[in-house]
Amino acid sequence: MKYIVILGDGMADEPLVQLGGRTPLEYAKTPNMDRMAQNGACGMLRTIPDGFEAGSDIANMSILGYAPEKYYTGRGPLEAVSMGIGLESGDVAYRCNLVTVEDGVMVDFSAGHISSSEGSTLFSSLSQEIPEVMLRAGVSYRNLLVVHQGTGSTSTPPHDIVGKKIAEYLPEGGDAALLLRCMGKSTEVFAGHPVNAARLRAGKRPATGIWPWSGGPRPSFPQFEEKYGKKGGMISAVDLLNGIARCAGMEIISVPGATGYLDTDYAAKGRYALDAIRHLDFLYLHIEAPDEAGHLGDVEEKVRAIERVDSVVGMILENFDGVLAVLPDHPTPISVKTHTRDPVPFVVLGKGTDSTEHFSEREAGEGSLGTKSAVDFLSFLFS
Ligand SMILES: [Zn+2]
Repeated sequence: MKYIVILGDGMADEPLVQLGGRTPLEYAKTPNMDRMAQNGACGMLRTIPDGFEAGSDIANMSILGYAPEKYYTGRGPLEAVSMGIGLESGDVAYRCNLVTVEDGVMVDFSAGHISSSEGSTLFSSLSQEIPEVMLRAGVSYRNLLVVHQGTGSTSTPPHDIVGKKIAEYLPEGGDAALLLRCMGKSTEVFAGHPVNAARLRAGKRPATGIWPWSGGPRPSFPQFEEKYGKKGGMISAVDLLNGIARCAGMEIISVPGATGYLDTDYAAKGRYALDAIRHLDFLYLHIEAPDEAGHLGDVEEKVRAIERVDSVVGMILENFDGVLAVLPDHPTPISVKTHTRDPVPFVVLGKGTDSTEHFSEREAGEGSLGTKSAVDFLSFLFS
């Protein structure tokens, strides 16, 4: 038996007045997910354990069966592993966003979804000024900062403070003094940088500085194949997910044209998934777009992103006869533009049927599979 999980990041939401009291998942035309609900069964999943932030890292680790209480050391180290950065003992890796701050307010946690090449140019200019840390450019605004012999520090994810004054959310404790110096240097180096001058001329948001957060040492996971007795693979455009997969010893399948943003190549993801599952037992197909639309607070874009996820579900349904599950990792409600910790709906085809007819938050709440803890999800699927 083979297994595919399609993960629509941040796909769950709340009923919205502008959608006539329906959620984006209810409003979107999702014939394929609905077909799964009709021929399969639904339930709800608790993906965020108590005491953890509602992050994609926490949620996706949980869904893959790695209890965050045991294995989570931060988002930074997961992304470092994904980028092939060998973290030594004593290294603390921070996720390091390029951000837009204006008048002391966090305007954009992504610096206008700056391109990878612009980000990498800014990072090489900044590297020369702060040789005491290691900077590594990643995809778009998602970069990395490594402190050698670091002690960690507390800071807030920048996507949680959009529109707020940053002064109350700066890094505290441990490496904070060093991080603040690096942030100050970034503001100096980026002001008037040719990359930003060109962005401003093009009417785009400049990257005014860096924002390090969620640092930690390299985690150590039991390997997926030993844990479940199955060869697993991951398709995702997001470093974080690939980092989790690499820590778990899963195969990482990269898909050309997968951007991790709204314009990602959905058909290519479906094709690569179908190809990969021929030699794997399990595939995790992660699609970031609904989450990005949620962070933007853009209802229409979120509905479109969900419909595109549904088209991938359709491609898989037509060409795959194993067990298929579809779910979000957490809600990213339009109303709050950030992640929440509410349980998420899931639908499974190939593990019995119930009376659900549509895949939605509401109907899944009444599904026969009940509410499960995410860390048990794959064991349930494989049972
Ligand atoms: Zn997520």
